[in-house]
Amino acid sequence: MVAPNEKYIHSKSRLHDQPHTIKNRFYANVLLPDERGCMIWSGYKNKQGYGHLRGFDEKMILAHRFSYALHFGPFDSSLCVLHHCDNPSCVSPEHLFLGTRKDNMQDCSRKGRIGGTAKINILRKNNDK
Ligand SMILES: [Zn+2]
Repeated sequence: MVAPNEKYIHSKSRLHDQPHTIKNRFYANVLLPDERGCMIWSGYKNKQGYGHLRGFDEKMILAHRFSYALHFGPFDSSLCVLHHCDNPSCVSPEHLFLGTRKDNMQDCSRKGRIGGTAKINILRKNNDK
C-alpha cells in the first residue's frame, strides 16, 4: 500500500530512490515510543542531537523533517519542523509542528537554546539552490 505522503516525498525529491527503501531505513532507526511518547532516533545524530537519515542520492536529511513529511505530507521547505517535546532526537509525528525560522529562534531562546539548527537549515536550503 502506498500512502499519498510517500508519493509526495518521492516526487518532491527529484531523485529516484525507492520510497519504500528510505521509509524502511527511517523506521529501522526509530525506537519505540518512551513514556513521554518520544520516538527517539537511534541512528546518526548531529551535535545538536538531531537525527540524520541518508536520503535520496546519498544526501543527508534531518530525520524529524522527514518524519513530518512522511506523516503530514507537503510543507514549505523554508519552514522549520519544531518539537513540542524539546527533544531534538525525537521523530514522533505527534511531537512535531511547523514554524517559521522566527518561531524556531523564539522557541529555542524560550527553551534556553541558541538557534544552531536553524542556521544549519538555512545553510542547507541555500546549498540546495
Ligand atoms: Zn518527543
